[in-house]
Amino acid sequence: MDILIKNGVLVTMDKDRRVLKNFSLAVEDGLITEIGKDLKGEADFVLDAADKIVLPGLINAHTHLAMTLFRGIADDLELMKWLNEVIWPIEGKLEPGHVYAGSLLGCLEMITTGTTCFNDMYFFMDEVARSVKEAGIRGVLSYPIIALEGTDVDKLLREADEGVREYSGGDDLVTAFFGPHAPYTCPTEVLLKVRDLAEKRRTGVHIHVSETKGEVENSVKEHGMPPFQYLDSIGFLYDRVVAAHAVWVSTEEIGILRERKTKVVHNPVCNMKLASGIAKVPEYLDNGVTVALGTDGAASNNTLDMFDTMKTCALLHKISTMDPAAMPAYQTLELATIKAAESLGLDDKIGSLEAGKKADIIFVDTHRPSLTPLNNPVSHLVYSARGCDVDTVIVDGKIVMENRVVRTLDKDEVLRFAQEQALDLLTKAGKREPVS
Ligand SMILES: [Zn+2]
Repeated sequence: MDILIKNGVLVTMDKDRRVLKNFSLAVEDGLITEIGKDLKGEADFVLDAADKIVLPGLINAHTHLAMTLFRGIADDLELMKWLNEVIWPIEGKLEPGHVYAGSLLGCLEMITTGTTCFNDMYFFMDEVARSVKEAGIRGVLSYPIIALEGTDVDKLLREADEGVREYSGGDDLVTAFFGPHAPYTCPTEVLLKVRDLAEKRRTGVHIHVSETKGEVENSVKEHGMPPFQYLDSIGFLYDRVVAAHAVWVSTEEIGILRERKTKVVHNPVCNMKLASGIAKVPEYLDNGVTVALGTDGAASNNTLDMFDTMKTCALLHKISTMDPAAMPAYQTLELATIKAAESLGLDDKIGSLEAGKKADIIFVDTHRPSLTPLNNPVSHLVYSARGCDVDTVIVDGKIVMENRVVRTLDKDEVLRFAQEQALDLLTKAGKREPVS
């Protein structure tokens, strides 16, 4: 075998919700081959997981990776002001090198905080793909389609289709979705073209929907109905649509989401920071809607730490429902693992520790004051652990980080390059220089 993990507490996230104490796990050819009490045999690498919680790598189901370069430059602003006055003018100056640098930085941050798979939507996707391959993690690249003034939408659709064809199926770490930005930036005919292409290529569609109250009010003005109802009326919604946010959604629309099996990505930190509102996550879950967790971009979060997102999610729904039993720890952890895998159509490959699945595995080091005593591993993962407690990361059967040393990327060089490219971008956009 390639890797033998010994003596770990395994939080499997499998159907039986098994938490296995002092268990071993074997990895060969990128797959988990066996989970057992005391596995024997020769292995290229033996990893002692004593004092570690071993769990499936976390999945960030909605982000804009290269926005790591925008970290901290636009805080404390309302969404449309944030987009119109800061984000979009800077994005207008983006070049491939900026996206490459920001994506490498994002990959480094995800690895060091235990995220092994993410769903991205951004510009210059080839640069994102390049960084993902160098980092050795798993990425779903949603090719952007946004019909702003002066945009050649047909060109974007062609590029998206080419990207999807290049990365469709197979065992590659990179897969591709179509990424129409939102119903308010893509006219009906564009959305329908995307829908047809996605069906033809048998892949997913990643879109922002109903993030703010204003968006819903505008949709009612323009289409006579709220966004999900409108999207359903044009035949856009189906089971491969991944809708980020879904904050302002009527009871009738929750029924539509359930019926169409459309997936929702909840971004609690971003929604709270931009004061967009509170998505009805417990209601979605009660109605059988698949919900995943995401960070959104680092400009509105401001980290990609999924541990932070899990804790925020659990706390937000407890206080918003005034029910401490809402969003219990296990259910919250599901949204960042198996449910997130389901939302991306990858649950046959990732999201749980089971023989036959891809070996995307992380260790959380519990030999820390804040994680002792280890009374309840699942509770610790959601309420006590932080991304920096992740000690080891394995993706596709390869050790990407061990004892907090990243093997695939040169940390100092990635940080230097990101700093340099952020300065270059902000200078070109005429914004103030970041403090270096
Ligand atoms: Zn977003």
